Amino acid sequence: LVSRKWKVNPTSIDLGDGVYIKEGDMAVMAGPCSIESEEQIVKVIDHLKANNIKIMRGGVYKPRSSPYAFRGLGIEGLKLWHELASKAGIKIITEVMQVSQIEEMMDYVDVFQVGARNTQNFNLLDELGKVDKPVMIKRGISGTIEELLQSAEYVFSGGNEKLILCERGIRTYEKATRNTLDLNAVPVLKDKSHLPVVVDPSHGIGIRKFVHQMALAGVMAGADGIIYETHEIPEKAYSDGQQTLDFAQSSQLASQIRKTFAMR
Ligand code: PEP
Ligand code: MN
Repeated sequence: LVSRKWKVNPTSIDLGDGVYIKEGDMAVMAGPCSIESEEQIVKVIDHLKANNIKIMRGGVYKPRSSPYAFRGLGIEGLKLWHELASKAGIKIITEVMQVSQIEEMMDYVDVFQVGARNTQNFNLLDELGKVDKPVMIKRGISGTIEELLQSAEYVFSGGNEKLILCERGIRTYEKATRNTLDLNAVPVLKDKSHLPVVVDPSHGIGIRKFVHQMALAGVMAGADGIIYETHEIPEKAYSDGQQTLDFAQSSQLASQIRKTFAMR
């Protein structure tokens, strides 16, 4: 069902208020790895507004490699974030980690993100197939393109056709970067599927000073959107600071993403 053979027209995700994730458009999604505090949310929202970025990313449930690391503010953080973001006209994309969170998060998110560690959580995908809310599925840590499409098929076949695919890098033998951003996946996914494809250069390369060029490479590869991490003071971020852009870098990137897209 997610194949171009089944549906020729590209799927367009309408988030309301004129905000889309779709082919022929360039969705810029930016925000911190983790939602940390009211003060932080306000600062990021001001930054996004100043740069005409309409979708804010951030985690309130964080899948951390260590159980002792910061694991997110949870539902109370999401409610606060939603209140501030909706006042500012900003849409929210955030990760849902388990089935029991779907219902409680439902009214406070615009896009559910399925993280790379949950790409093959088939119970979660089944449940997301039943909701009327867009879902962005990230490629698994060691997942193939085919496996990502099969995960999307779970949600789509459950009845939820509001789906977005995300290339966020895969684990390879290469240790010089956090992950290997597989830009090959972009044209392949666009060719095989009618779903919009987003690139995450932050997790894809994992090194702040290289995020910019990989984001632009993602645009040229044919992505319909770019999602990246930004924070007022990346060194102080509760998670993923090493790959997080400061606001000046983010402003520059957002404008270059748009210029690059216009040239494509
Ligand atoms: C994130 O978006 O912060 C995240 C945890 O991403 P991923 O699931 O791709 O590792
Ligand atoms: Mn992160």
